[in-house]
Amino acid sequence: MSTEAPTPGNRLSARAAAAWRAGIWIAVLIAAMAGLYVGRLATAHPPGGEHLAFWPMVAIGTWAAVGHGVPIRDRKASLQLALTEIPMVVGMAYLTPLQALTAAFVGHFVAQVTSRRPVLKILNNSLALSLSFAVGLVVYHLVIGSARPVTFMGWTAVAVALSIQIVLNFSVVVFGAIFRTWRWAYPPLRDMAVQAGLNFAICTVGGILAVSMASVGTWTLLMFAGVSVPAGLGWRKADTARRRYNGLEKLYTSVRRIDLAEGGEREVMSVMLEEARLLLAAGVAAVMVPLEPPLDHLGLSARLVGEGPVVYREAQPLGAVSRLIAAKGPTLLHRRHGKEIASALAEQGYTEAVAVPLCSGTSGPGYLLVADRPFVHEGFDKEDVTMLAALASNAEVVLRKSALLEKLRYEAAVRDHEARHDALTGLPNRENFTALLRERLLALAPSAAVAVLLIDLDGFKNVNDTLGHQMGDMVLAEVARRVGPLAQGGTVVARVGGDEFVVFVPGTDDAAALAQAAQARALIAKPMRVATVELAVGASVGVTVEAAGRTDSQKLLSHADIALHQAKLRSNGTCLYSEGADRTALRRLSMVGELRRAIEDGALELHYQPVHDVGSGRLISCEALARWEHDKFGRVGPDEFIPLAERAGLIDPLTWWALDTALGQVKHWRELVPELKVAVNLSARSLSRPNLVDLVAGALDRAGVSPDALRLELTESSMMAARGKQAIHALSELGVALSIDDFGTGFSSLSRLRRLPFAELKVDRSFVSQMEPGNDDEAIVRSVIEIARGLDKVVTAEGVETRATLDHLYALGCDAAQGYYLGRPVPASAYEALLLAQPCPAGAPAAAPADSPQHRGRMATPRP
Ligand code: C2E
Ligand code: CA
Ligand code: CA
Repeated sequence: MSTEAPTPGNRLSARAAAAWRAGIWIAVLIAAMAGLYVGRLATAHPPGGEHLAFWPMVAIGTWAAVGHGVPIRDRKASLQLALTEIPMVVGMAYLTPLQALTAAFVGHFVAQVTSRRPVLKILNNSLALSLSFAVGLVVYHLVIGSARPVTFMGWTAVAVALSIQIVLNFSVVVFGAIFRTWRWAYPPLRDMAVQAGLNFAICTVGGILAVSMASVGTWTLLMFAGVSVPAGLGWRKADTARRRYNGLEKLYTSVRRIDLAEGGEREVMSVMLEEARLLLAAGVAAVMVPLEPPLDHLGLSARLVGEGPVVYREAQPLGAVSRLIAAKGPTLLHRRHGKEIASALAEQGYTEAVAVPLCSGTSGPGYLLVADRPFVHEGFDKEDVTMLAALASNAEVVLRKSALLEKLRYEAAVRDHEARHDALTGLPNRENFTALLRERLLALAPSAAVAVLLIDLDGFKNVNDTLGHQMGDMVLAEVARRVGPLAQGGTVVARVGGDEFVVFVPGTDDAAALAQAAQARALIAKPMRVATVELAVGASVGVTVEAAGRTDSQKLLSHADIALHQAKLRSNGTCLYSEGADRTALRRLSMVGELRRAIEDGALELHYQPVHDVGSGRLISCEALARWEHDKFGRVGPDEFIPLAERAGLIDPLTWWALDTALGQVKHWRELVPELKVAVNLSARSLSRPNLVDLVAGALDRAGVSPDALRLELTESSMMAARGKQAIHALSELGVALSIDDFGTGFSSLSRLRRLPFAELKVDRSFVSQMEPGNDDEAIVRSVIEIARGLDKVVTAEGVETRATLDHLYALGCDAAQGYYLGRPVPASAYEALLLAQPCPAGAPAAAPADSPQHRGRMATPRP
């Protein structure tokens, strides 16, 4: 017993096996009949005397009865009420058993042949009928003994013989069907009992009448036939009308059931298959629904054999039946309809079928098909085609609706997921996270401590800028893969911004939350291989721990954000939120917007701090330093707004603005002091810009000054980073001098330093301002000066706040000095005044001893 749809290979062998079984069955039938005949019937004589003239009448009567049987149908099955036993009764009484059997067999066989059913099936049916007839004959002869047919005994013999014969007939058909198909199909027993009873009643009465007529003479029998044929036809007509009515009723029921089918496409399909099979009392129902383009040459197929279950197959080729339906529309399929149909049926393993179009797609029609009525020797007819077509067109509406609903449901689910998750990492997005947060907070006890960890990748913009967005995306996905698994036991991990991830931890405390933050940083910091590049990605984490009852999602996130800002400024990269940090952080947050506006509106100012030659005391250059005076915040120092600009991506516009402004000034001032230089600070971020050199060259062009008027200050660490190496070389080739700012605070490798094309070292002010003869700071300043000497570079000391420091620097051999003692950063006009106040620049001695009064006299007027 198999419900699997056959593959072409095993379908062939299955058919061969079925043919073998049919052959064996026929042989069994023949053998049984031969046995009966030889054992019991060969010597029997007709009780009413031999009337060979009745042979054609029995044969024709059988033929007519088979061909014009009256069908009885209901939802489960269709049964044929055949009156074949009536002519047989005549045969029993007036023909020898051999004559009677051949007449019945011939009549039955011819009737079947004209219906053009498969030969094996016809043979089987005719033999089965003949066998049961043979048994009936044996019983008849046993019961009637030597009595005449038209006596009480004769009538009893007819009744007994027919009852056995009819029961046998049904059994043989059912068993034969099961044996031949090798499949257990439940015979509709109740209906068969009804049919058997009806058959028995009508045929017994009819048979007795026919025998009685025959006893009068041949003509009387013909007259009987003459009356019964129109009566039979009338019966059939009435039945057809009833059938049509019943059919409509059944169709209505089926359609309603399909309409009420719940669920998706598949549920509707299986209800439809069941209804189609019952409606046409068929053994098999199958459906093929084409898929959407570009898979429209394929379909979803489903097949129901008997009581089921329904077997689904996705992406099946539409096949021969589909092509046939495309050409013919709703149709009856039978082998006799031609080679193509025969092969289409064979392909599916059916003998006959009704197929109607269903849900036609762009490249061919789908179809609904029912096939093989198992217990009825009756094929499908036009009526069946119409009914199935009606069922299909109704089902199609429901099916399309259900497919649509299913699609809509699926799309809605996808859209919902997309709306709540980040496409790149698959983590919940910000909206989803805040919703989850709200939900979780409500579910927790008010005193339960919850933590939010806000993680921000360090220098992610650099990855994007230098390696491209694709790599940036890969980095983000990898980070998500690493921190994603933290989501366990109520912990939620989400991506809430470009390079920002957030972790919500319920039921925790400060120490545990900080430990988790450290864990997250460690996970991210592990070397990362993206495409072919090995990267080290750092992260900062802002942590806030609060009682669930006294906070909300918004507070948690903004506190974590404030802590993150703090963390960015710290070396350990983690910060726990506190109220105090809150105020400064808030100020910074609101400052970003204001800073952007200030840069756009040109509201920043550039001040210039004088730089003097230590030997001659002459004013040789200046450092341009940005200043920001804000209505609300007051004066904001660059130590505060420069890191802010760097984080907010505002540092580039600020740098280009400073460069343009400073170059414009130096162009003007060079008319007063031709060798004057201006130093502009360059942030590490600007150094990694791919077109930095072009931008600097452009600024020089615009200002119309030669490159030697400009000095770019870079911090030690940015100078040492390999990334800017190319830019550094290109800038120095352009003729722009480079200074290493804040020297001594980084960890320069002296061997690398030697290879860098820089012009100046600026000793960090922290060493200079605190140096005393013999202390560590002095030792550092001394060695920096020696290194510069050794490398043949200029050395400038920053943070010169006293006369003593200046003298000390002179003694150590420092080239230039800058500091409050020599001059604070001042607006351009004030600086210009300093330049004008400087006595005759040209021809001054290059250097003088530190203690010489001449030297001191030449110093610009210090402003303590
Ligand atoms: P820096 O490049 O080291 O600039 C020198 C800083 O030392 C200036 O602080 C200056 O006012 C201060 N200073 C000068 N002489 C003395 C002194 O005798 N004693 C003390 N204690 N300080 C002195 P400022 O102007 O606040 O600048 C701070 C930092 O901001 C600068 O450090 C620089 O890194 C950055 N910065 C300022 N303007 C710009 C700019 O236009 N672009 C960039 N990228 N950075 C800038
Ligand atoms: Ca500087
Ligand atoms: Ca500096």
